[in-house]
Amino acid sequence: IDEQVQHYLDEVYSTVVSRNPNETEFHQAVALIFKSLSPILRKYPHYMEKGILEQLVEPERVITFRVPWIDDNGKVHVNRGFRVQFNSALGPYKGGLRFHPSVNVSIVKFLGLEQIIKNALTGQPIGGGKGGADFDPKGKSDNEIMRFCQSYMSELARHIGPDTDIPAGDIGVGATEIGYMFGQYKKIRGNFEAGVLTGKGLGYGGSLARKEATGYGAIYFVEEMLKSKGLSINGSTTVVSGSGNVAIYAIEKATSLGAKVVACSDSDGFIYDENGIDLDTIKEIKEVNKDRIETYLAKHPAAAYFAGCNGIWGIPCDVALPCATQNELDSESAAKLISHGVKAVAEGANMPCTPEAIDAFLENDILFGPAKAANAGGVAVSSLEMAQNSMRMSWTFEEVDEKLQQIMKNTYESCLAASIEFEAEGNLEIGSNIAGFKRVADAMVAHGVI
Ligand code: GLU
Repeated sequence: IDEQVQHYLDEVYSTVVSRNPNETEFHQAVALIFKSLSPILRKYPHYMEKGILEQLVEPERVITFRVPWIDDNGKVHVNRGFRVQFNSALGPYKGGLRFHPSVNVSIVKFLGLEQIIKNALTGQPIGGGKGGADFDPKGKSDNEIMRFCQSYMSELARHIGPDTDIPAGDIGVGATEIGYMFGQYKKIRGNFEAGVLTGKGLGYGGSLARKEATGYGAIYFVEEMLKSKGLSINGSTTVVSGSGNVAIYAIEKATSLGAKVVACSDSDGFIYDENGIDLDTIKEIKEVNKDRIETYLAKHPAAAYFAGCNGIWGIPCDVALPCATQNELDSESAAKLISHGVKAVAEGANMPCTPEAIDAFLENDILFGPAKAANAGGVAVSSLEMAQNSMRMSWTFEEVDEKLQQIMKNTYESCLAASIEFEAEGNLEIGSNIAGFKRVADAMVAHGVI
């Protein structure tokens, strides 16, 4: 059976590679999941007989479209838009939109595949999808952003709906962009379908605590991991990469639980403040002024700024939270963190650690929280936003936050339980892939080959 399982995994993986040449991020995401699946395929060989893996790795639908828009000087630009409707076994497609120049079909498919497993782990009734465009919001005026969002939604609207596919934000897409896209969708449909997008503004169907959810959720997950070893984030020195929505609210929750967060970054470089970062300044720079993190020094001259991003992992810390982007933490950075005595690493971004970095953490018995589990809080609260929209009601911040805490606790526990059942106790990389996969696979088996 061992041979049969390995042969099956190898065969499906090589089909993925030959059918999707050059999609390196997608290959990486597939390999990462497959690496964990041998034990469950050995125990339940019917997943192989029913062809679950070959179906899982092929998106139900990939949509690519033209997004033309006119800049403030009257010049026409054309970007490429994407939406991958990857898997609807557990519910309508759900996942964010990323606006960043690096976006291509490989990135969107890697994110979409991760999203399937992540969404399953939350226990919420949502399938997996992802989308975006190779548009760079950096330096664009508000009117340019609005026109781009309207053009993007002019095409996307025909493919989505509150029971079909529900996009949200990701890198480069926040409440402002969601607002413009919602306005365009509403105009095209002629109906107020609040549940078609999540991460909306609070005045028109958004959920309290959605903005905070990914960052807070990551810290709730880290607390569960640390608790298993009798530790706590309280009193720890913590390093967070990034300074977007995930990073900011991870810093906020970590600080409120007693951690000292000494560093964060943007795509140009990082700041180090040994007394603990002043989050109000970061929020002002990133949420209000949309400026570079380097400007932190104007208010805090005692802090230090370093150009480049990798260096942030050379700072000694107990807890490291990569919350910027994929493959930002490689084996060299992992080695530095390990040599400085890091106790826990959790992924706030999607796939921020390279496979070699993950192996290094696991081999050295460092607590490791994989993205699909650790950053599931965002999409979990998106699902709660959909529930509130369906009921035409809204919950208080405390109600949503409490549900979020429960979901993160359950997510942790189901990952841990799967790691124990499949003889890899405490390896949440294996546990998360198995627990998420099983939920999706069982629903796919129930639905038949379709
Ligand atoms: N982009 C987020 C993620 O990676 C949130 C998706 C959502 O809320 O649908 O999970």
